[in-house]
Amino acid sequence: MERIMTNRLDRGFFKYQEEFEAAAVRVLRSGWYILGEELKSFEEAFASYIGSKYAVGCGNGLDALTLACRAAGISEGDEVIVQGNTFIASAMGISAAGGKPVFVEPDEYYQLDPTRIEPHITERTKAVMAVHLYGQTARMKEIKSLCDKHGLRLIEDCAQSHGAYAGEKISGSIGDIGCFSFYPSKNLGCFGDGGAVVTDSEEYCARIRQLRNYGSSVRYHNEELGVNSRLDEIQAALLKVRLSHIKELTGERKAAAALYDKAIDNPKVIKPAVRDGADHVYHQYVIRCKERDALAEHLKNRGVDTIIHYPIPPHLSKAYAFLGYKEGDLPITEEYAKTVLSIPMYNGITEEEQGRVIEAINEF
Ligand SMILES: *Cc1c(COP(=O)(O)O)cnc(C)c1O
Repeated sequence: MERIMTNRLDRGFFKYQEEFEAAAVRVLRSGWYILGEELKSFEEAFASYIGSKYAVGCGNGLDALTLACRAAGISEGDEVIVQGNTFIASAMGISAAGGKPVFVEPDEYYQLDPTRIEPHITERTKAVMAVHLYGQTARMKEIKSLCDKHGLRLIEDCAQSHGAYAGEKISGSIGDIGCFSFYPSKNLGCFGDGGAVVTDSEEYCARIRQLRNYGSSVRYHNEELGVNSRLDEIQAALLKVRLSHIKELTGERKAAAALYDKAIDNPKVIKPAVRDGADHVYHQYVIRCKERDALAEHLKNRGVDTIIHYPIPPHLSKAYAFLGYKEGDLPITEEYAKTVLSIPMYNGITEEEQGRVIEAINEF
């Protein structure tokens, strides 16, 4: 029997093959490959989808976070509060701007917990970064009012939450700046690396446009030390195709999650809960189990692949040893790292495939 992999990017391509191929050929034949009409058109469509005034394409999600932090004024010595249980890029975006990530414990939905932020606010705190981890939105109303109260910028890491609502608004449009990755496996993925930043601020938008292109707004007039981080024309054109189907794509993920919710039935397994008032677009379907490694092994033996998001929390990574955290500093985060397991979840997963995953989990 064919293995069930954690992701099947081929399914996402073949579903809209003709549209993707037509878009790619159009760009190839146009003779214009960087910073052109395709990018402009995608930026407009994406801003309008998110409900922000501006979108600026860039090279990847990490760059989106870095550019957002720089535009928000994070620099040497500034502290940014972020949840401990995130992909390391959230923290590295802060560091790349010169800031220092300050990790706090998440809530039971794996999100930044507004009740745990205040004790970590110091004179050096400049911003809060909310990561809508796995695709579920954080408690943005409370987080936003805390930021307003303390005069902090609010940056959203939406690399896993394309199209997820936090109340009336889509994630990315609530804070000062929203950061997206279009890495191929994301809910809105391209066919290489890609990212974008969204904002309502003309000032932030202009600064990010400048930073992403060598610090220049006018060609060869370099105002500051920028980077080269642009979303190319082919990726922009392909993303526009994918964006035109995002409602359907999100619906598919929610339906697949609903089937797992209904059919996974094993007292050893904790299924992902959705907070009242939150939305979840299931970038990942993450279960928890005390005997996680044995469960993963059992699934593997039954032809089901799994993956851990994430086995080493950033504060315990070698990369961040210089911050001086030690094991036990973030017990909830560390407990999650030891027990979480992501099971196959992707656009185009079949009921038959899900049935095999469910059966294997239930017999563990
Ligand atoms: C994927 C991801 C990023 C980084 O995106 P890249 O495009 O791979 O640089 C940042 N934050 C989170 C939460 C992610 O999942």
